[in-house]
Amino acid sequence: MSPAPVAFSGEQVPGALGLGQLATAAELPEVQVRLGDPAPLADTSTLTPARVRALADPIIRTWVENSGQQLVTRIQQEPPGGLAATGLAACLNVVRQHAVQILAVPDHGLVPGFACRRCGALGRTRTGCAHGASAASAVPDLIEEMAVGTIHNGGQVQAVPDPPGGIAAWLRFPTSHRDNT
Ligand SMILES: [Zn+2]
Repeated sequence: MSPAPVAFSGEQVPGALGLGQLATAAELPEVQVRLGDPAPLADTSTLTPARVRALADPIIRTWVENSGQQLVTRIQQEPPGGLAATGLAACLNVVRQHAVQILAVPDHGLVPGFACRRCGALGRTRTGCAHGASAASAVPDLIEEMAVGTIHNGGQVQAVPDPPGGIAAWLRFPTSHRDNT
């Protein structure tokens, strides 16, 4: 008997809307190990939603890697004050607020700037925080610093060819800063 494909619909896998992909039992080796049964997936009804999400993660990851344009579209369609930030100033702000879910960064180019040695604040100038110019060190690329900060805070970084505003972000929560420069 050949293994039946398991369909991951958007309803079964929150966050995978529009995925529409199939995973065969051959791609789900952990399930067979867990069940201790050499037979292919006999009963998918015993899978919990959390388990399905865990199994779908690699598929979702691949989907995310191919979805840079979808991310850009989603950011562009978000109204002001919503879950998007575009432009360097807005993105510096939301990174500082730990609000970034996905940072959409350009796939090339550097934006030199400064980082405060005392509080870590990033900016285009030496005077971006209360500690003043004497505490600021030059950094070769603010975008890289922002990417590191985003990942450190549990977010993701997605390289896209031409993000809106030069750099953009999809947020976990709306922030009060609406400066889309
Ligand atoms: Zn500072």
